[in-house]
Amino acid sequence: MKVLKFGGTSVANAQNITLVKNIVSSSDNDKNIVVVSALGGITDLLLKAAELAALQDDTYKSLLKDIEDRHLQTIKELIPIASQSRILSKVKSELNALETLLEGAFLIGESTPKLSDKIVSYGELLSSYIIAEFFKEQGLDIVHKDSRELIKTNTVNGKTVVNFKLTNALCQDFISATPHKIIVMAGFIASSENGDSTTLGRGGSDYTAAIVAAAINAELLEIWTDVSGMYTANPKLVKQAKAIPHISYEEAMELSHFGAKVLYPPTIQPVLAKGISIQIKNTFDPGNQGTIITKNRNEKGKTVRGITHVEHIALLSLEGPGMVGIPGISKRFFEVLFLSNISVVLITQASSEHSICVGISEADVVEAEQAVNEAFEYEMSSGKINPVVVEKNLAIIALVGDNMKSHQGLSGKMFSTLGKNNVNIRAIAQGASERNISAVINKEDVKKALNALHEEFFEENIKQLNLFVMGVGNVGGKFLNQISQQKKYLKDNLKLNVRVIGISNSRTMIFDEDGIALKNWGSLLAEGEKADKSKFYETVNTLNYRNSIFVDNTASAAVSNTYGSYLGNSISVVTCNKIACSSDYANYMELKQLAREYNAPFLFETNVGAGLPIIDTLKHLIASGDKIQKIQAVLSGSLNFVFNNFNDKTTFFDVVKQAQEEGYTEPDPKIDLSGIDVMRKILILARESGNQLEIDDILNDSFLPQESLDTTNNDDFFASLKKHESSFQALYQKAVANDSKLKYVAQFEAGKASVGLQQIPKGHDFYNLEGSDNIVLFYTERYPNQPMIIKGAGAGADVTASGIFADIIRIGNF
Ligand code: ADP
Ligand code: ASP
Ligand code: MG
Repeated sequence: MKVLKFGGTSVANAQNITLVKNIVSSSDNDKNIVVVSALGGITDLLLKAAELAALQDDTYKSLLKDIEDRHLQTIKELIPIASQSRILSKVKSELNALETLLEGAFLIGESTPKLSDKIVSYGELLSSYIIAEFFKEQGLDIVHKDSRELIKTNTVNGKTVVNFKLTNALCQDFISATPHKIIVMAGFIASSENGDSTTLGRGGSDYTAAIVAAAINAELLEIWTDVSGMYTANPKLVKQAKAIPHISYEEAMELSHFGAKVLYPPTIQPVLAKGISIQIKNTFDPGNQGTIITKNRNEKGKTVRGITHVEHIALLSLEGPGMVGIPGISKRFFEVLFLSNISVVLITQASSEHSICVGISEADVVEAEQAVNEAFEYEMSSGKINPVVVEKNLAIIALVGDNMKSHQGLSGKMFSTLGKNNVNIRAIAQGASERNISAVINKEDVKKALNALHEEFFEENIKQLNLFVMGVGNVGGKFLNQISQQKKYLKDNLKLNVRVIGISNSRTMIFDEDGIALKNWGSLLAEGEKADKSKFYETVNTLNYRNSIFVDNTASAAVSNTYGSYLGNSISVVTCNKIACSSDYANYMELKQLAREYNAPFLFETNVGAGLPIIDTLKHLIASGDKIQKIQAVLSGSLNFVFNNFNDKTTFFDVVKQAQEEGYTEPDPKIDLSGIDVMRKILILARESGNQLEIDDILNDSFLPQESLDTTNNDDFFASLKKHESSFQALYQKAVANDSKLKYVAQFEAGKASVGLQQIPKGHDFYNLEGSDNIVLFYTERYPNQPMIIKGAGAGADVTASGIFADIIRIGNF
């Protein structure tokens, strides 16, 4: 004999019930017991209707109407017309009885636990009746048995508990006596000694099935649900979760107690005592083996078997100087919670006994707080113990596995993973059996924490990076294309799964929680919603993904002003925009400080020398204890291009125009030609070398005529270049006369920075700098005479995009 239990989704409508029938009729056992839940969602509707009626809110009637419609519709779709009227009228009369009960609650303005149990029992009463009638119609040899006649309960300390002795006898007698092959019965519902309907708790149909299985010594208990087994984490929250093929009773119990809703926690006890295995299977994928739960321990398997969470948790802490060393405080604390019928989910106590802290269900908070404060009134009034402290909006996450005890470092790994993702841990507990390590965290962090832990413990070190990209012009567009091309390589070789979740330009923005299809990001973006920087930020923050990275490819000050909010929420920032790092020193430092405090890298390698590894190298020099003595550099690809191409056969105007057209200058070329761009770069290098400097401290001896500097738009600027051609030619001639070339040089030494045009003689490292290349010479304590030199293409969309890419990879390896 087997017991098969079908959950709410499995019997939610006619179509699903047909699948159930196929599963039941394909079993070749001589006798099977089929336990069914209410049609999915009906229990919630019934409870809500009872609550509204008790509040004398007549909208309960519309819920009743929904309940009625769902059932009548299901009958009409399942049962042939000839038999429909009998079944419809029976169901209608039950619904009338339900209506009377709700009216009663409405009239007296309250719903007692007894009445509420009676109301909610209609879900399973109706579903089991309809399913049984359908099976009969389909020619199955079945009997419908009212569970209330088999499952009997008592009340102990205000709680409904199963009277196993009576229940076992009733089940055995009935099932052995019935001649039918299939017995259909309702899950969840039972009755008390005096015949009142009772229930076994939310999710209790699993328990009904286990009770029956144990009573009749069934060979197997099958739990048919809407997922293919017990997963490594809730598959609704963790997309990468996988079904666990085999698991022990103890592990399954621990997982279900800590939130794996797929199995109602009390279910395991009755079958464990009899050694009956449980198989969790998917009604919508019956060929899948699902999960088998047995008494066998998994000795060799993975140490961590699953990660679970429990929501709606509150922490209750009792603290005070008078608690230290006084015996009996904990006993009284737990006793008062017990007497108030409050179950404790998690306990932590420091060895100093200065405080005790417990996790309880949020629903119990008011009662618990009052009861504890009353019990310790005397100690509180004399200041020995402080009033109880309550913190709400919390959740517990737990790692579960039989073999965790024989492995070191699991909790270390768990907490460092949470720490890296800025998940604040409020309390921790580890069961003495070491089958469970739990942490209490803020409820908003649950999804992020589950996914980060899942990645750490189950995903073969594949790390997911979630990118939010603002700015898709020259550089941003190239960047997205590079990611699209490299995605597979990164996954296979660097174990990085890089997903772009959000993209915005100045007009529109798009988000896709599964990752935007990068092959056609352009057309998707064109169809996006209206761009809005604060909404973009809000979305990144609300999605709360682990390893979130905001990528700024704009040159906008407004965008750079948002970095602080990203970093302050543990969202990394990668940017080629120089504005933030060359703004006030205080702002630059604050961003760096936020990055440290919130564990969120703030990387801007492309601010200097595009894709060249200049800042990263500088950081490594400093980190390893070197000191920068002098920096000499040509940092403007645009100016280098201009002075490499300018001579007595060209005009300055033409060369600058060409540089602009070929994308070597900023959109406003004056930013390059005036030296501002280079000032920003040397400022950033000076700051990264550990110096406090402002942009105004930098000496800028501009080669531009004052008139060009004073222009306010590109046209006037270019006109002024044309007008002053002779002064540019003069600069050129002087350099030629000295056998030198013109280079725009930035320098930092002894705390002072300067930028300006210089004549570079033959033989100097800068003399042969080609095209738009950059070069940096670092003179340091370790490189005093022969500087460390970094040289190469220092401008252009492709190299800049790859520099941003490199920063993303750095974060991946962080
Ligand atoms: P039923 O109505 O069939 O009893 P439940 O809704 O009670 O189904 O339980 C199945 C649900 O449990 C799944 O849809 C899933 O969302 C949730 N769940 C939570 N944790 C887990 C887990 N670790 N493995 C599988 N399912 C889980
Ligand atoms: N129908 C009940 C509930 O939703 C029992 C169950 O489905 O297991 O809680
Ligand atoms: Mg369930």
